[in-house]
Amino acid sequence: MGLPIVHHPDYVAPLRPGHSFPMSKYGYLRAGLERRGLMSAGSWLAPAPARPAALHLAHAVDYVERALALALTREEIRRIGLPRTAQVVRRARLAASGTTLAARLALERGIACNGAGGSHHAGPDGGAGYCVFNDVAVAAAALLAEGTVRRVLVIDCDVHQGDGTAKIFADDPRVFTLSVHAEKNFPARKARSDLDVALPDGVMDRGYLSALSGALKAAFACWTPDLAFYNAGVDVHMEDRLGRLALSDAGIRARDRMALAACRDRGIPVVGVLGGGYAADPAVVAERHATLFEEATALAG
Ligand SMILES: [Zn+2]
Repeated sequence: MGLPIVHHPDYVAPLRPGHSFPMSKYGYLRAGLERRGLMSAGSWLAPAPARPAALHLAHAVDYVERALALALTREEIRRIGLPRTAQVVRRARLAASGTTLAARLALERGIACNGAGGSHHAGPDGGAGYCVFNDVAVAAAALLAEGTVRRVLVIDCDVHQGDGTAKIFADDPRVFTLSVHAEKNFPARKARSDLDVALPDGVMDRGYLSALSGALKAAFACWTPDLAFYNAGVDVHMEDRLGRLALSDAGIRARDRMALAACRDRGIPVVGVLGGGYAADPAVVAERHATLFEEATALAG
């Protein structure tokens, strides 16, 4: 059967040359997964753009309406760090519905991945840090609203804190948010997750895996979710331009395996999403992201 993978060609939106966000990584990732035989023509599922009503479950109506109308203020656009274009908004809608689709596939099959997503800095009232809409929050809110799941766990291992997700679900007892991140990294003002593990600069594989193992045990000790989301940001890598940690390729692989297996060993369906990654070469970032899909495939039925 293999791993269910959600992808859309329009996950790549045009940016001006030299833009700091490695937009082409989504295309390189697809090529890398095809090369590995994990994804072939017709084997992946494409989402339709998320409807406004779905986005309203995680974001203020006013923000969603203005984002869709390309009417965000200059300050809001500056905070997001992506241009105010129809393609950027379409991409954010596709990523949100892509993670929702991957979540439905995970509920059927045990595990699934979206070849985008992890836009965890988008909060209730606006976007930030390359995130327009919070795909994981939109997906979790949709499945909770329709009663498909009752309890959700978010395991966020991107090097930056999942502040948007934490804020969206701050008062929602149905969602447990876990964020393992570099303490001194963006955002400067942290939100409060249900469990935050703030790591000092320069943490390497062993220290990281030990912290993650403890965090997963603590989360599962007090929370039995019907569904888990895993943000597998690769900006924890030692050569990442924006990370402050020092994981190796093998460390990222062990991390992905640990997080995914912690769910699967307990019979909990899990959805993998990309999160961030900022090497100078987007193709290198894509290769790091491919690790998630390899490890997820090993756990797929
Ligand atoms: Zn990040």
